This record gives sequence, structure tokens and C-alpha cells, in this order.
Amino acid sequence: MSVVSAEGVHFDAEISLLIVGAGASGLVAALAARDAGVEVVVLERDLVPSGSTALSSGMIPACETRIQQENNVTDSVQIMAADIIKKARGDTDPSMVDVMCRNSGPAIDWLTEHHGLDLTLVEGFLYPGHSQLRMHAPPSRSGADLMRGLVSAAERAEIDILGGAHVTQIFADAEACIKGVKITRPDDTTELIGCSALILACNGFGGNANMLRTHIPDMRDALYFGHPGNQGDAITWGQSLGGATQHLGSYQGHGSVAHPHGILISWALMMEGGVQINREGVRFSNELDGYSEQARRVLSQPGGIAWNLFDGRLRDLVSGFEDFKQAEAHGAVLKAGTVEELGAKINVPLTELRATLDRINHLASTGEKDEFDRDFTTSSTLIPPYYAVKVTGSLFHTQGGLKVDSNARIVTEEGGVLPNLFASGGAACGVSGPEDWGYLSGNGLLSAVALGRVAGQSAAKLVGK
Ligand SMILES: Cc1cc2nc3c(=O)[nH]c(=O)nc-3n(C[C@H](O)[C@H](O)[C@H](O)COP(=O)(O)OP(=O)(O)OC[C@H]3O[C@@H](n4cnc5c(N)ncnc54)[C@H](O)[C@@H]3O)c2cc1C
Repeated sequence: MSVVSAEGVHFDAEISLLIVGAGASGLVAALAARDAGVEVVVLERDLVPSGSTALSSGMIPACETRIQQENNVTDSVQIMAADIIKKARGDTDPSMVDVMCRNSGPAIDWLTEHHGLDLTLVEGFLYPGHSQLRMHAPPSRSGADLMRGLVSAAERAEIDILGGAHVTQIFADAEACIKGVKITRPDDTTELIGCSALILACNGFGGNANMLRTHIPDMRDALYFGHPGNQGDAITWGQSLGGATQHLGSYQGHGSVAHPHGILISWALMMEGGVQINREGVRFSNELDGYSEQARRVLSQPGGIAWNLFDGRLRDLVSGFEDFKQAEAHGAVLKAGTVEELGAKINVPLTELRATLDRINHLASTGEKDEFDRDFTTSSTLIPPYYAVKVTGSLFHTQGGLKVDSNARIVTEEGGVLPNLFASGGAACGVSGPEDWGYLSGNGLLSAVALGRVAGQSAAKLVGK
């Protein structure tokens, strides 16, 4: 994954704008550039585009959208920005938070109204740290459906997505101006494609064990739940060209992946009254802090696992989620009519389990806070039948990346910008601060969609000159 001199290189073809990666970020950027009348080709290493986007729940946070208006949700750029900054404990760039929030609503309106994406407001619960209902997702709450919608929109816009096109080299001149790329095909043949601008939309380094060892050693052995093709290429190329990086130790973890099934179990269960216990039958944290930081907490429990505990009311809340349906179909969700049956099924000591249930039901009925500072005011008591899922903590995606400006141009170590190189989505530094606790739900697709659109528009402006 190198950057080499473009001097004397003859390209097989010339395209105005090339985009590396056909996840949400690359496809949104392509749609924006195409709308601006620019010739664009998306280069994707997989034969069929999927990326981490297809593995996600497809939930895109956005404010001031028409969908929110239709549902009488009062939200604003300021309210959303304040939520993001609070979750990151103030340790994030407020100007980039503003860029993402300000562009989020227009991006969702444009995708739904102009490009035919089917997105609805996620109702019924708020994710940790969100003060308003602002998650927009396909009705199935499935990232695979989000990808299907984006790929169809790209086809309608006559955008070429070149599958099996692994970008393995970038060519630049002495001023770090990108002249083109080398793609390697599945049969190892190569092609050289020239361009006037390049967008890096190839996500972060969750799939690269060496980079994880260097930047996020705590999670180097954790299950990586994202797309394996995300090898940190954007960061490698950006750094070689003098681009600055930020918060490389930041990531989104998740403390609720069914084990050993490897299926995401929605955090809505915790937000509405569910709890996590360890295999000794004891709670160990405030689940409402957020699912990202919970990955590390679950991994530090005996055996690196926990049990999600909930009841029939909560099961009904998530029963429409595609992931949950899969979890039930694979036998990951256990049901018990009594505490005794539950204890036997999940093999935790009955005395501790009973004490834990009594305690949380007491907290839920009185609305008191517990020793972890969890507020039970909005929780109901858990009543039989009980449900339990064994879960572990995992790494979803990295949040650090290339530093970009408000036009998604890559900022250099000296504080300038690279001439014609842009980054968005997981390739760019997110707004979650330096560690795992700063991730507000949806910060991943926020950068892919809101910043992806900015990258497409800015690159189109540059090559349209
Ligand atoms: C299980 C799970 C659930 C999630 N749920 C949510 C959610 O509900 N909401 C949310 O906001 N975020 C969620 N996330 C995070 C979200 O999926 C990512 O932040 C987002 O998809 C990033 O989009 P992207 O376009 O940057 O990357 P991707 O979708 O990963 O796309 C990058 C693409 O680049 C390709 N690529 C990489 N290197 C090269 C190369 N050298 N040449 C050519 N192609 C290359 C890859 O193959 C890939 O297709 C979730 C993540 C996971 C793992």
C-alpha cells in the first residue's frame, strides 16, 4: 500500500474523480459528485460491495430532517452537536462536529427524496447520550438494506462501481497532487487509472492486526465485527503524503454480541430496562453509559462474557430487528418462566441471580439510582417470562483517522491541505474523541453519510473548475 512517484507513468484510462471504497461513504460521495455533473468511478476491492455498512444496523443520526418534522421531533444542529460533544467529554473538534451535524439533515432529505432511499425514524427508545429521536434507518434496521438502497441509487445515477478493484498503489507528483491509482484484480492483473481528484472512503484499520497492536493494544485480541477488507490503507497513504492523523486510539466497541453466534443484540434492551450480569449472577456496570465502552467491561468479566437479561416486554420491543430475528433463529435467545429455570438455563448461582433481580426490580419501582449511578426512573420491573442472551465484547470499527477540514480535504502536518485528496467515513477522524467512551451511537454512519456527501460535493467543485 504505497504512494509512488507519478513521473513517467502512463495511465490506461482517465476519470475525473475516483473513489476508493464502496461502503456508505464512497457511494454517498459518488452520488453527490454525480449530481454535480462529474464523471465518477468507485473502486471496490470486493466483487460485490458490502463493507462494514452492510454489517451495521443502518442507523444514521441526523437532525432537522423532514422525517423528524413529520414525527413532531424537535431537534437542531445545536442540540445534536451538544449531545456528541458531551459524549466525547468535550475532547473533540467542535468545528467538525458542526460540519457533520449541519450536513446530516440535508443528506437524509436528499437521499430519501432525491435518491429514493427508504428510511424511517427509529422510535420507541433513545440510544445512550441522544436527547432526541434522530436515528434514520431502513425499516428492517439492517445495514444490508441500506447498502442495497445506495447501490440501487448509484445504478440509477449511472455511476460505475468497479468490483474486484483493489487499490494497491497511489501515484502522486512532487507536490503530493494525486495523479492516479493502480488497481489489482482478483487474478493479479493490474490496471492504472488516472484521475483529477481522489476520495478515500475505505474506512479505518479494524481489520489490520498490526495497526491494532500499535494503536489500540487493549482490543488487539477482541473479536473484530467489522469488514475484514478495512486494512487502514487510507491512513497509510495519507501519512505518506504528509497528511495528519488524529485519535488513532479511538474506536467503537460493542458490549452485546451474542456468543458464540456472533450476532449483534440491540442495546435498546438495556436502554429500556434490561441489564447485564456476569456468570456469577452479578451486575458490574452502568449499562446506560453506552455500548461502546461496555465492550471492554464485558471482556474484563470472568470468561470475557456477560448475560443480557430482559423480559417479554423488551423482547417485543426488538423482535422486529433483523439481527434479533437471526439471534432467535440461531437459538441465542433463551426463555425461562421462572427465576429458577433461568438460573439453571444460564448456569449462574441462583441466590445471586435472585438478589440481582430483586434489586433491579426495587430500583425500577422506586426510580432510585444504583451504585453505578444508573438511573432506573424510566425502567419497568422485569417480569416472567425472562429472556437471556450470552454476549461478549467486540471491536466494531476504528474512529481515529485522517484529519480533514470542513470540505473533507486532508489536512497536512503543517496545517495546509493536500491538493486533491479527500477522506470521509471511517477513513477520516471521527468526532468521538480519543477513546472508546466518546462514541455516540451513529457517529460511524454520520461521518460516512454527512461527510461523504461533503467530500463528493467538494471534490466535484475541484475537478469541475
Ligand atoms: C455490526 C456493526 C453495526 C454497526 N451499526 C452502526 C449503526 O447502526 N450506525 C452507525 O452509525 N454505525 C454503525 N456501525 C459503524 C458503521 O458500519 C461504519 O462506521 C460505516 O459503515 C463506515 O462506512 P464506510 O463507508 O466508511 O466504510 P465501509 O462500509 O466499511 O466501506 C469501506 C469499503 O472500502 C473497501 N476497501 C478498503 N480498502 C480498499 C482498497 N485498498 N481498495 C478498494 N476498496 C477498499 C472495503 O472493502 C469496503 O467495502 C456499525 C458497525 C458494525 C461492525
